[in-house]
Amino acid sequence: MQRHVSEEKTMSETVQVTQWLCKVCNWVYDEAIGDPDSGLAPGTAFADIPDDWYCPECGVTKADFEPLAF
Ligand SMILES: [Zn+2]
Repeated sequence: MQRHVSEEKTMSETVQVTQWLCKVCNWVYDEAIGDPDSGLAPGTAFADIPDDWYCPECGVTKADFEPLAF
């Protein structure tokens, strides 16, 4: 008798955050889209945004953004 043991692999996927929410106005920065109006090309990671960048909607800085996790 042959036993087939199917192992369930629990993959601990690292959730990659690519969207960042402005805590003030709820505007979302999507890294895939970037912020072309502010000179941020599509694909610009949030970490690569210059510190003097600010929310196009309400004018707060990166410090007032939080990762958008689902
Ligand atoms: Zn904002």
